[in-house]
Amino acid sequence: MNVSLGTDSNRAAELLRAGGLVAIPTETVYGLGADATNVDAVVKVFTAKGRPTFDPLIVHLGSVDQLPTIVQAIPAAAQKLIDVFWPGPLTLLFPKKSVIPDLVTAGLESVAVRIPAHPLALELLHSVGIPVAAPSANKFGSISPTTAQHVADQLGDAVDYILDGGSCSVGLESTIVSCLAEQPEVLRLGGLSVEQIEAVVGEVFVKQASSDPGKQADESNAQLAPGMLKRHYAPSTPLVVVDSLAEINLNEDDALLLPWEVSNIPENLERVVLSERHDLNECATKFFAILRQLDASNSNRIVAVRFPEEGLGRALNDRLERASAR
Ligand code: AMP
Ligand code: MG
Repeated sequence: MNVSLGTDSNRAAELLRAGGLVAIPTETVYGLGADATNVDAVVKVFTAKGRPTFDPLIVHLGSVDQLPTIVQAIPAAAQKLIDVFWPGPLTLLFPKKSVIPDLVTAGLESVAVRIPAHPLALELLHSVGIPVAAPSANKFGSISPTTAQHVADQLGDAVDYILDGGSCSVGLESTIVSCLAEQPEVLRLGGLSVEQIEAVVGEVFVKQASSDPGKQADESNAQLAPGMLKRHYAPSTPLVVVDSLAEINLNEDDALLLPWEVSNIPENLERVVLSERHDLNECATKFFAILRQLDASNSNRIVAVRFPEEGLGRALNDRLERASAR
């Protein structure tokens, strides 16, 4: 496998302009970027990921000034969120202009847009000057990549260049918010907490995906609930989620994924504690890398203890539920 990996944002920009695929470091997870206005380049993203075309892509910009070139209007609530949280782990929906091909939005009239906060991503997006469509740089449905090596391991030479920006600082995908209706709605929990969003725009709806299996996205209803796939972010080792270890019979070949230390765990079990200091942000930063590590270990089952339903704990629990779905 001949993977090209480095920190040359000019080279990355040239490849993007030429219709190539470049993996981009962001503060959330690594993205697999292509020129969002070039259908042939966008096709390559879906192919490399094995991603179904009913699942729309997020478009990344380097500056808010570019927004009017791809969207028809900026809802007032979206503007407030932009002012506070961009660049950052927040994706917003806008009515799209025709310069964004239907393939990018899976035929939807709206386009999802974000300005990432990672310095190297911003450097690249500024210098390339075109909108960049970039879903997570992994195979569809599997664990999201939070290092350049994760991308190399999974996508290898399907990518023209991997821009290496180190480990992702947030570690969870962006929070997706729609301000297209009267009341803002969180479509996907992610790296910006609901509390932070509500502090700016007041109460928001939160779409409950995993609790409503009848409304999961698939080819027939993707338009209603894009990105709401029940099984996602999944290791190949079976994963079960519990509120407390007391509710399950542990086996000796289980591996434990714990927010923080708990008492009375059998000594011999493999375990990973995400944050000694009970910090949900630290849990998020490490989450996908540790999930990968446990998946690669010899355990037959990963037993994960749920996070408190606050701050990034909500998004982490969402990822656990989807990782555990069969
Ligand atoms: P990712 O795979 O992390 O790039 O996230 C892409 C997700 O963004 C999709 O799975 C959708 O959930 C969401 N998304 C992208 N575009 C739209 C859109 N126009 N409307 C609603 N959700 C969208
Ligand atoms: Mg993804």
